Parts: sequence; C-alpha cells; structure tokens
Amino acid sequence: MKPIQIKEKITIAQNMYRTWCDALGADSGISAQVQELAAKVEASADASIRSGVAQACRQCDREEGGSCCGAGIEDRYTPELLVINLLLGVTLPESRHSANSCHFLQERGCILPARDILCVNYLCTRLQKTIPPEKLLQLQETNGSEMELLFRLHDRIRNFIRYKAHGTPQHSQHREAHGRLL
Ligand code: SF4
Ligand code: SF4
Repeated sequence: MKPIQIKEKITIAQNMYRTWCDALGADSGISAQVQELAAKVEASADASIRSGVAQACRQCDREEGGSCCGAGIEDRYTPELLVINLLLGVTLPESRHSANSCHFLQERGCILPARDILCVNYLCTRLQKTIPPEKLLQLQETNGSEMELLFRLHDRIRNFIRYKAHGTPQHSQHREAHGRLL
C-alpha cells in the first residue's frame, strides 16, 4: 500500500480535530494529559537549554548550516500525533520552508511541541563528544518522561476516536500496521 504523504496526514489530522476536539476536551483524563504533556515539553526544552544542547544546535543550524531535520523525517508522524499538536495550539504548515528539510522545520525552527522519539532523543556524535555525560543523562531522563506520557496519550486518543467513530478501540499491538508514533 502506498504510504500516506504528510500533506494528506495533515488534512486527516485537521478533520479529526474539527470533528473531535470538543469531545476530546470534555474528556477529563485526556484533557489532563494534554496539560501535563505541555508542562513536560517545557521541562524538556529547559533541560535542553541547561545542558547546552539547545545552544549547540542553534549554532550548528545558523552558522554551520548543519540542521539534522532532513526531508522525510515528517513521514514518521501519525495523524493522531498531529492531533496532539493541534490540541497544544499549533497551526500545521501547508508547505515546507526548504525542499531539503523536514516539513515541520520552518523559518524559526521546529514548530511541533509534541515530537517523534527520534526528534526528541537524537544526539549527533558532536553533541555526544562535547556535552558532559551527566548533563546528557539529565536531559535524557526529562525527555524519557515526556515520551512515556506522549506514548500513552497517543494510544488513548487513537482508541477514543476509534471507539466514538466505530465502537472498536484499537489495541497498541496493532499500532505498527497503521503508522508509527515514537
Ligand atoms: S543534533 Fe548535531 S547535527 Fe543536529 S543540529 Fe544539533 S549539533 Fe547540529
Ligand atoms: S525536530 Fe521537528 S523539524 Fe526536526 S525533524 Fe523533527 S519534526 Fe522535523
């Protein structure tokens, strides 16, 4: 089967969001997890600054043209993960900023707060060599907590929508058949 392109996934996510955002917002468990995720994303961003990773990546991107957010990474994103970003207030871009870059890398950097595990965890060789190990460990612990919650929320939203739409929740072991999350 032909893989779904990112523009199609964005349209699916926007339609899901339009149809289900009120119901998702009215579910106290989902609503609480979305708030909790927003706090964890912020904590990860703070940890990235404290570790020096944010500064190193900014310098690499702006001064050395070395962003590692290449075209094709956006294919890892599922419509449900994009719905989570919509719930966090993001406007999904219709076009990419640069042909060689990920669809979500816009002029001021990545526009997604809820990101795939590859995006959250990736540390290039240079970062591994230049950032002190104890700082990388702290960053990875914070990122791990964010990922664990995002994984649960993604499953919960997928099951919620499936149940409301078809009366059949989808179990996590079937996840890979429909696209990857993290
Ligand atoms: S992870 Fe490495 S290659 Fe990617 S932007 Fe940061 S410093 Fe540059
Ligand atoms: S961090 Fe953002 S811009 Fe970079 S590859 Fe991941 S989704 Fe794309």
